[in-house]
Amino acid sequence: MEKVIILRYGEIHLKGANRGYFEHVLIQNIKKMLGDLTYRLTKISGRYLIEQYNLEDEEIFLEKLTKIFGIYSLSVGFKVPTNLENIENVCKNLDFNTNSFKVVTNRADKTFAIKSMELSKLLGEKILSWYPNLKVDVHNPSLTINIDIREDGNTYISSNNILCAGGMPVSTAGKGVLLLSGGIDSPVAGYFMARRGLKIDAIHFHSYPYTSLLAREKVIKLAKKMSNYCGNINLHIISFTKIQEAINKNCDKDYMVVLMRRFMMRIAEKIANKNDAHAIVTGESLGQVASQTLESINATNAVVSMPVFRPLIGLDKLDIISVSKKIDTYDISIEPYEDCCTVFLPKNPVTKPKIDKVISEEEKLNINSLIDEALASEEIIKI
Ligand code: ATP
Ligand code: MG
Repeated sequence: MEKVIILRYGEIHLKGANRGYFEHVLIQNIKKMLGDLTYRLTKISGRYLIEQYNLEDEEIFLEKLTKIFGIYSLSVGFKVPTNLENIENVCKNLDFNTNSFKVVTNRADKTFAIKSMELSKLLGEKILSWYPNLKVDVHNPSLTINIDIREDGNTYISSNNILCAGGMPVSTAGKGVLLLSGGIDSPVAGYFMARRGLKIDAIHFHSYPYTSLLAREKVIKLAKKMSNYCGNINLHIISFTKIQEAINKNCDKDYMVVLMRRFMMRIAEKIANKNDAHAIVTGESLGQVASQTLESINATNAVVSMPVFRPLIGLDKLDIISVSKKIDTYDISIEPYEDCCTVFLPKNPVTKPKIDKVISEEEKLNINSLIDEALASEEIIKI
């Protein structure tokens, strides 16, 4: 008997003619994420198998595989040439650290003589005879033993089903640019969009020397954590200092935040266009702060023509925090370095910016040359 990891995919099943493409991308992503671990990846009707892997690496495999979008669940199981003796033998040696169980058989190979229901019943009785303290519970068992008799002459037996990241393989939905601050929200926003298959490039604006170099390190650490799910990330680092100084010097302070955010959006759109990305992603959540009221969002949205995805728009902060803990970005996000948005922050940022006023404030600036100058500061870090 050989130990194998069985991978099941979710929504890809729903794809019709395009399914081959989604599967192809998923396989490429699995290979990238598993890097130079040794294993064999094979496909058996509707699932993938990781075979011939080093058992000492099993934890590493599970750690990585549970984070690959497009994989819905996985099990560590056993592969044996199909015959009753082999199947019984595996069942006898399973880990029965449980009170109740049931056996579910799927007989794709109709040449195997015992029908599914009969085999489940027969194995259930055997298990009870080996482990008399256990009970069968067909409705709410604490352990389900899956017997999968495939056409390839092998039977796959598994008893643990680990839920994985779900979603769609990264890149199948094209590419977007994520505005990545050092806060809690934006890494979570990137995670959600990558989960829908979007390849993520990240853009970070800093106001060095008003913000510290540690803030930059923090964003690099965040992007590294995100890459466990999103794959490689190109992180574009842009100096925002001159723009902030210009707004601070020339414009109404109460409009500082909305003016800054319009600059961020314009620059993000330019970077997106240059990098074959077709959407902007932000970590905004309706009403969370002054810059995230409906009026502010309208004012920032108005300067770009590509779609802006705000996957957190309807989430409470506590919901966002719980996802950030799950994806392990929370502890980095709460490190205390200042974001550029907190530099020159007005006492009373406007919550309902008037668009006419926004435009008249912007007329005091040379928008294009400020943008060009910021773009010229671009540094790209491959994560
Ligand atoms: P976060 O927790 O993501 O920092 P926030 O609650 O602090 O968000 P804002 O400061 O209003 O909210 O920022 C809203 C969004 O704007 C962020 O989620 C992020 O997408 C983007 N953003 C803010 N600051 C930066 C920055 N320095 N660089 C890149 N994007 C930024
Ligand atoms: Mg922030």
